[in-house]
Amino acid sequence: MTISKGVLFMLLHEGSLYWPTTMQQKTYTSSSPIEAVYDVAIVGAGMSGVLAAYVLQQQGDHVAIIEQHTPASNSSAANTGLLQYSNDIMLHELAKQIGQDEAVTFYKRCVQAMDELAQIAATLPEHAHFIQRPSICYASKQGDVKKLQQEYDMLRAHDFSCDYWDADTLYDKLRIKKAAALVTYGDAEVNPFYFVRAMLDQILANGAHLFVNTRVTNVHHGPIVHIETTNETFAARHIVYTTGYTQPPTDEIAAADIRRSYAIVTNVVDYSWYEQTLIWETARPYLYMRTTVDGRLVIGGLDERHHLPTSSAAKIKKRAQQLIDEVTALFPHLSITADYMYCASFGESTDNLPVIGQHPTYSNEFYIAGYGGNGTVYSMIGAYEIAALLAGRTTDVTPIIRTKRWNGVRT
Ligand SMILES: Cc1cc2nc3c(=O)[nH]c(=O)nc-3n(C[C@H](O)[C@H](O)[C@H](O)COP(=O)(O)OP(=O)(O)OC[C@H]3O[C@@H](n4cnc5c(N)ncnc54)[C@H](O)[C@@H]3O)c2cc1C
Repeated sequence: MTISKGVLFMLLHEGSLYWPTTMQQKTYTSSSPIEAVYDVAIVGAGMSGVLAAYVLQQQGDHVAIIEQHTPASNSSAANTGLLQYSNDIMLHELAKQIGQDEAVTFYKRCVQAMDELAQIAATLPEHAHFIQRPSICYASKQGDVKKLQQEYDMLRAHDFSCDYWDADTLYDKLRIKKAAALVTYGDAEVNPFYFVRAMLDQILANGAHLFVNTRVTNVHHGPIVHIETTNETFAARHIVYTTGYTQPPTDEIAAADIRRSYAIVTNVVDYSWYEQTLIWETARPYLYMRTTVDGRLVIGGLDERHHLPTSSAAKIKKRAQQLIDEVTALFPHLSITADYMYCASFGESTDNLPVIGQHPTYSNEFYIAGYGGNGTVYSMIGAYEIAALLAGRTTDVTPIIRTKRWNGVRT
């Protein structure tokens, strides 16, 4: 599929973002001169593109990253930065969908990705505000308690690090009045914007090339892929599409359900909760929250069935107030206002698993589409997965996340 050079392309968020205010502004320029043929061209300089570039560079590949805007300016700037091994689909539910062995394999791979992210963060300035935190997932309603118990039993049976809290323990620790909660350990918070940009600095210092304000408009398949853009033309032995919630310039990828979601970052609050835990719930869509290193709360939720973010400031303000109301219902003593508020597109796959792997037809073309609330963990899995496939290997999760799946469910 060719995308017209004239098509206006927008960022997938509206409103005021917080993470870009936490760093000094930086202007990126495109590398020069262009290499005749790159080992790998990566389309998109968000979390997925930069993690892929990092891993492929370690494997010895000369990488070009081609970005239509500036690095980390799209969904990775809207990312609220909760990193968890648990997924939107619980382990026991995933086991029903794809079988227990594969569900456990996938969950174990998510735990490993948490370690991989921690190792990368440890090399970055201020660790990009990556801090390990437990997560609690509370029962939104009494009827969800059984679900949490089932999940706890299955996680424990397979040695995942977790706990089950009854209502008293939950109230004791967090002052939340809900019937129960599942606690998972080894999760983390991060400043995703900082993480991507700091990693990019390292990659560029190690010889990767970056092209900004350069939109890929068409791709000619072959042993050498020829890539047309709004600026130069590139040649590469392999191409990796990491275009986030934007359709890449080819049409053979499992469909995503693109919606929109809201998030706020509050004023600095004079309150710290138990171990600054990440908090979410069993309801779908869920309310979720975390703290920041400067004492704010990041709160998100209220997904809607529209794929583009609203540009109505009034609507974003209304949803921001709804998020505040929901959080103050949980924590009545909190006095919060929204210093930043935004709406952003957000993609999920039909089977709650990321779409990562080789193009169904063209063997030197790859995708990392980390659809889902756990997008960063998926980006990390995707980076190592593509590196393995490029080196001619498969992994334990290759059949689970590959691109060719019937209706999003593995065939
Ligand atoms: C409100 C919100 C909250 C979220 N919270 C979390 C969270 O707490 N934890 C978590 O893990 N994940 C979260 N996510 C998901 C996370 O943001 C995504 O998984 C992540 O941003 C995906 O990174 P990416 O690199 O794939 O996409 P992006 O960051 O969108 O990067 C894709 C890049 O590709 C570029 N591009 C697209 N098409 C082209 C083209 N034709 N030519 C050149 N460049 C192109 C885009 O400009 C963009 O920069 C959240 C998402 C949203 C919207």
